[in-house]
Amino acid sequence: MSKIIAIANQKGGVGKTTTSVNLAACLASLGRKVLLVDIDPQGNTTSGLGINKGDVTNCIYDVLINDVHPKDAMFETTVPGLKIIPATIQLAGAEIELVPTISRELRLKKSLHLVKDDFDYVLIDCPPSLGILTINSLTAADSVLIPIQCEYYALEGLSQLLNTVRLVQKHLNTSLQIEGVLLTMLDARTNLGIQVIEEVKKYFQQKVYQTIIPRNVRLSEAPSHGQAIITYDPRSKGAEVYTELAKEVIMYEQAAR
Ligand code: ADP
Ligand code: MG
Repeated sequence: MSKIIAIANQKGGVGKTTTSVNLAACLASLGRKVLLVDIDPQGNTTSGLGINKGDVTNCIYDVLINDVHPKDAMFETTVPGLKIIPATIQLAGAEIELVPTISRELRLKKSLHLVKDDFDYVLIDCPPSLGILTINSLTAADSVLIPIQCEYYALEGLSQLLNTVRLVQKHLNTSLQIEGVLLTMLDARTNLGIQVIEEVKKYFQQKVYQTIIPRNVRLSEAPSHGQAIITYDPRSKGAEVYTELAKEVIMYEQAAR
């Protein structure tokens, strides 16, 4: 059984890409077969895993718009068991190009259907908006993982995101679930972080992961070396916490069966 998880929050800079790359890499290092789909035109997941965008002939744009088979857009990564479908800036045009197409919200779902059984997990790194690319991701997904940064106004904008999730559940994907809410970039030196944790737990209750991601400078350095944290610095706090998160994700899936 494979599971497709969209990593979404329309706020930028909350840790979507960091979580996508490192959760995917940690799941793979725990022996799972993982596909990471970069659907953000900025392509940070793509470059963060060391893919040179100049070498990319087919990216997620070609899968969505030109009916390229997803297998023909997959790249191996330096992490065994982890493959990626990259994004390049070409994808920025897709928001507009998809508007007049038939069943435009279903294109990613249809494509991933062709390959999902080859993987245990498919993770989708969404762009910082609630546009057609995020809608495609939520429609293709079994569940959505929401990273929330531990900062003031952490919950701001979340009602919009949850509203979008409800609309997708109603019209496009009735079985879409909330996978979990992940608190990111906790600064343990301040009280603010503790307050935010309490506030988010009050709102989302048992949906909040026990694993909380602290600020860790190694996590912010790893992408410029084109590596996931577990290969860049396996002994760092960042590697430790994302491994814990991966174990939690696996545990919840096993419990749900
Ligand atoms: P998003 O994809 O939501 O825009 P990113 O994952 O790109 O967010 O994170 C935004 C910035 O914060 C990036 O520069 C990233 O390296 C950094 N960052 C993310 N998580 C952490 C963390 N736990 N510790 C330190 N820096 C982080
Ligand atoms: Mg991102």
